[in-house]
Amino acid sequence: MTLMHFETHEVLNQSPPFEDVDLYAVDRPLQDAMAANGAAGEAAGLSAFGKNFGSADMLEQARLANENGPRLKSFDLKGFRRDIVEFHPAYHRFMRESIAAGVHASTWRADGGRAPAPAEVARAARLYMASQVEAGHCCPVTMTRAAVAPLAVEPALRDRLMPKIVARTYDPSFRPVHEKSAITLGMGMTEKQGGTDVRANTTRAVPDGEGYLITGHKWFFSAPMCDAFLVLAQAPGGLTCFLMPRFRPDGSVNALRLQRLKDKLGNRSNASSEVEFTQAFAWRVGEEGRGVRTIIEMVQITRLDCALGSAGLMRMALAQAVHHSRYRTVFQRKLADQPMMRTVQADLALDMEAAVALVMRLCRSFDRAESDPAEVARARLLTPAVKYWVCKTAPAFIYEALECLGGNGYVEEGPLARLYREAPLNAIWEGSGNVMCLDVLRALARERDAAMAVLNGLVREAQDLPGTAEAAAFLVTAFSRRDAEGAARHAVERLAQLAAAAALAESAPAIAPTFARARLAQPRGSTYGTAALEAAETARLLDRALPVG
Ligand SMILES: Cc1cc2nc3c(=O)[nH]c(=O)nc-3n(C[C@H](O)[C@H](O)[C@H](O)COP(=O)(O)OP(=O)(O)OC[C@H]3O[C@@H](n4cnc5c(N)ncnc54)[C@H](O)[C@@H]3O)c2cc1C
Repeated sequence: MTLMHFETHEVLNQSPPFEDVDLYAVDRPLQDAMAANGAAGEAAGLSAFGKNFGSADMLEQARLANENGPRLKSFDLKGFRRDIVEFHPAYHRFMRESIAAGVHASTWRADGGRAPAPAEVARAARLYMASQVEAGHCCPVTMTRAAVAPLAVEPALRDRLMPKIVARTYDPSFRPVHEKSAITLGMGMTEKQGGTDVRANTTRAVPDGEGYLITGHKWFFSAPMCDAFLVLAQAPGGLTCFLMPRFRPDGSVNALRLQRLKDKLGNRSNASSEVEFTQAFAWRVGEEGRGVRTIIEMVQITRLDCALGSAGLMRMALAQAVHHSRYRTVFQRKLADQPMMRTVQADLALDMEAAVALVMRLCRSFDRAESDPAEVARARLLTPAVKYWVCKTAPAFIYEALECLGGNGYVEEGPLARLYREAPLNAIWEGSGNVMCLDVLRALARERDAAMAVLNGLVREAQDLPGTAEAAAFLVTAFSRRDAEGAARHAVERLAQLAAAAALAESAPAIAPTFARARLAQPRGSTYGTAALEAAETARLLDRALPVG
């Protein structure tokens, strides 16, 4: 029981912890996005997941997993190489729960094909809720599901691995793949001299028997206790994609030498290593020289997850802020009733509405990709734009939510500090901000007609909203400029906001006009709380952000 009476004072005016909540049931924008994108029938399962991840127990496990980060064990007592990473049991708990719920693979069938809609949208809601509570373990969960896509070019290898990938059990044991019933996958592209420019990779691959021997390094190699990794290396025919297992086919430990673990700003429950490969065994995935082409299949899916992850971080920050201000009194009035605090939180809630509507609409494009070329084009143009805008929005958003809790927001015991330190990461990996904008320009240059059809579609979907026509005109001019690259950030941000308005028009029509007016027609000042919102709009946004009581 909590002791309220001290010798010197009583504890008053502190908000109760935000715990033992159903993360799905308290998230109206998420429910609306599920309904709009074909996943209304998933409510019961999502609610069960939301209750589990929103429990006091899981929130405590998240603290433990991050305060007791992974440790590298390079050698054993007698000096033999081990190259393993030990995790706190709390980290394993998250892996177990997320894998049991299929967050790592439910978008795939056991034969490697895409699971039918709304698999993508329903799984996205689970990743979004898991990220709210513990973002670190979402890294291997995301990589496992994304790594399946490039394996399509090697059906025999894929068929061998798929049953172990889609299994709903978590097996963290350090054993060869053929001895395990469930596996996870990671990936390594970034080297010391460059992560964006992977064609500059210096790691070499030499054919050897049924595979290749790989020599070189990776500078960022996350979740190194995964069972196998997609890596890029220079084969005789050029940059090539490989799958490198932690054990060789003969059962001996493969030559992945973990040099050290990164000491990171955030994402502390997850291990990110530096690794050297000393003639490590790997299978080729795709033709020699087609490494980028092959691995890009994984990259696009991972970028989608980055946006989902950042939206999840934002959601937890907003929920904590709104919850706290409903209990905290300052100057005889609850913070939740102070006009300026209401504007700040409503302004935050507006971007939250947009982010969740936008990412879930994008997931619908992935759900429909196999049968609808228009959705393929939509996913191609908007995935980098959505990753750019949502991931870039998260740090400033979480900072402002943190400030709503005053000093309590800044201390490590609370969840806001962890969310804040996690916030910049999704923008960096799998293509940093500028790289996302360049990718939008690339889509426009290479598939101009398809991209323009997507743009016209967005304008149609948002046609009745304020600022749509101006945003469309701006985009056409900006993307046609000779110096489009230098000005691309502004254009990509507007593209994402236009897509958000279009998504909201479908999933939250009561919010769409407010978003369009406050973001497209009259962009706000440089901080949250500067949007011109009517009292009724503010009330609607805050009611939807978190139910009272
Ligand atoms: C915690 C963490 C875990 C990671 N885990 C992994 C992992 O498991 N596997 C893996 O392969 N990688 C991983 N990464 C690496 C990550 O993907 C790279 O850091 C990222 O892709 C950027 O590459 P870089 O660090 O080499 O930066 P650079 O490529 O040097 O880029 C630096 C900056 O320049 C910008 N830039 C690049 N090109 C241009 C251009 N043409 N015009 C304008 N600006 C440009 C970029 O946007 C970026 O802001 C991880 C990174 C972190 C932080």
